[in-house]
Amino acid sequence: MAATLAIDIGGTKIAAALVDEMGQLSHRRQCLTLATEGAEAILRRVIALARAVLADAGGTAADMLVGVGTGGQVDPESGDILFATPLLPGWTGLPLRARLAEALRLPVAVANDVHVMGLGEATQGAGRGCRYLLCLAVGTGIGGAVLLDGELYQGAAGAAGGLGHVSIDAIAGRRCNCGGVGCVEMYAAGPALAADWVAAVGAEAARLYLGKPPAQIAVQDLAALQTRGGPGADAARHALDQAGRYLGYAVASLLHVLNPEMVVVGGGVAQVGEPFFAGIRAAVQERALPSVRQTPIVPAALGTDAALIGAAELARRRYGGRGPTARAS
Ligand SMILES: [Zn+2]
Repeated sequence: MAATLAIDIGGTKIAAALVDEMGQLSHRRQCLTLATEGAEAILRRVIALARAVLADAGGTAADMLVGVGTGGQVDPESGDILFATPLLPGWTGLPLRARLAEALRLPVAVANDVHVMGLGEATQGAGRGCRYLLCLAVGTGIGGAVLLDGELYQGAAGAAGGLGHVSIDAIAGRRCNCGGVGCVEMYAAGPALAADWVAAVGAEAARLYLGKPPAQIAVQDLAALQTRGGPGADAARHALDQAGRYLGYAVASLLHVLNPEMVVVGGGVAQVGEPFFAGIRAAVQERALPSVRQTPIVPAALGTDAALIGAAELARRRYGGRGPTARAS
């Protein structure tokens, strides 16, 4: 059974592995992105990592394909990076697909990392078997992926699924770095959630309860606090529930637009589980019409492997003659 080389390029690390058609990973390797060194340095590390995985596997099979998920907005046709945040400096404008295809001498498919994560969850993870799926990644920001009739919907310019910038308070809401007001990312993503808890208990109490400066407090700290109890635990539970509710308001809006069979929620914030998910479900129950109110909202199943599994699926669909989006290259 043919394996596919999958690569996941993030602002912190780069991962690569071979992925078979059952979604099983082998020969996994990873390295730091060291993004501050710039785009050419990142690209050199991606190529070196890819070659190392191929060497570990005993060389390149004749029918080897390469699938890539990367931070940034990716042109669905060309595989060029149309836009990337300063987390990947110089990445904007990079013809990533063409550069990798030239270096590796293999067919390469590229998409946004959250888009391939959604494809992974849809094919081998929590959304397996769903033809209509909304998949969210909630971490330091909020991204999304949409599957329509079994196909990854990337949008005209690769920017679909940007749930983080759906406004839940367009008049009096918090200002977002995108220029918008009331974007849900400013309420439900990790930094906002942690800041809300610090504001609720006060900065000095926050430092005392968790033994670290407020700026370093992460969602995982709050999840641990609400589990073990003690001072600040009730406020932590409330902050997690409230962040879930805020996300739920945005999800309820999207349920009316997309009517997916299921909503899969992954990423670092989602890994805390309850009461975050209870908050999402409560808001959807409260705000969505009966036609979409019962849509299951479930945790992602594949963790950080989802992007690699989805990237491999992307390449197979593009070049392998499998799946609904297969096409000639
Ligand atoms: Zn925004």
